[in-house]
Amino acid sequence: MRAMILDTPGKPLRVANLPIPTPNPQQVLIRIRACGICRTDLHIVDGELTQPKLPLVPGHQIVGIIAEVGEQVEQFKVGDRVGVPWLGHTCHHCRYCLSGKENLCDYAQFTGYQIDGGYAEYTVADARFCFPIPADYPDLQAAPLLCAGLIGYRAYRMTGNAQKLGFYGFGAAAHILIQLARYQGREVYAFTREGDSKGQEFARQLGAVWASSSEELPPEPLDAAIIFAPIGALVPAALRAVAKGGVVVCAGIHMSDIPSFPYHILWEERVVRSVANLTRRDGEEFLTLAPQVPIHTEVNLFPLVKANDALDALRSGKINGAAVLVVAHD
Ligand SMILES: [Zn+2]
Ligand SMILES: [Zn+2]
Repeated sequence: MRAMILDTPGKPLRVANLPIPTPNPQQVLIRIRACGICRTDLHIVDGELTQPKLPLVPGHQIVGIIAEVGEQVEQFKVGDRVGVPWLGHTCHHCRYCLSGKENLCDYAQFTGYQIDGGYAEYTVADARFCFPIPADYPDLQAAPLLCAGLIGYRAYRMTGNAQKLGFYGFGAAAHILIQLARYQGREVYAFTREGDSKGQEFARQLGAVWASSSEELPPEPLDAAIIFAPIGALVPAALRAVAKGGVVVCAGIHMSDIPSFPYHILWEERVVRSVANLTRRDGEEFLTLAPQVPIHTEVNLFPLVKANDALDALRSGKINGAAVLVVAHD
């Protein structure tokens, strides 16, 4: 099978021919149709996340059809369409797994990081961590739901009932979550990099009540903000934008250092927190909600072998919505 391989962080991916993997008793073999590209993939390829298995097939927003099932798999059969998210394995017995916080499992393994992922024609995945894909979604539109959607949703949940909600960085996750926010009657304020008028226009088209540079303060204090961009300087910026008691959620897995800031912008019970990974419950909830809204994803398509171009486009901020690799089978 064809696959894109990371040999050395900091170097481009390489096209390779690998044997089709064989599922173990708890795994399914998936014939991949699409794989979303996530900013986390960039952090892995660029070497900012330092624990990848190498060589590695990246990609953790996989949509495909089950081609084979391991002998202990009961929940899926050959021909089912499934999605594979970032959380690929947990231990089921550490204190986090036992208390409903499997996203924090001490022994978690992640798809496209410690487990080969979806920049390939086939992959194997633990069936217990796969989700059925809602029927309403074509493969390509479903792919970004699996991380931008799922982990974005976990970050969104952490904002409680915030009525005025700020999004710092208006990429794949924000363009999904704004649709849920509007469906739930909330107002979204979009913050983009300075001069990104295309991104701001995109946010307004999707219903943002206000869109401007992240250097600006919103017209009114926000109840909460989610920082999707991997830029530590946005933490004090967002703290200045939220009202008393407001929460600032850092949604990314990697962020540049947070500059020091005066205590008074945290004072009055403002909260800064991060969100890590996802639980399967987040996935089930979000994939139930998405077709109800219904959430539409705007996808920028690249063939599998052009994965490096897709990563470059994401790195330079050229993607409105989500980038998705189309996996064609000869
Ligand atoms: Zn565990
Ligand atoms: Zn991701």
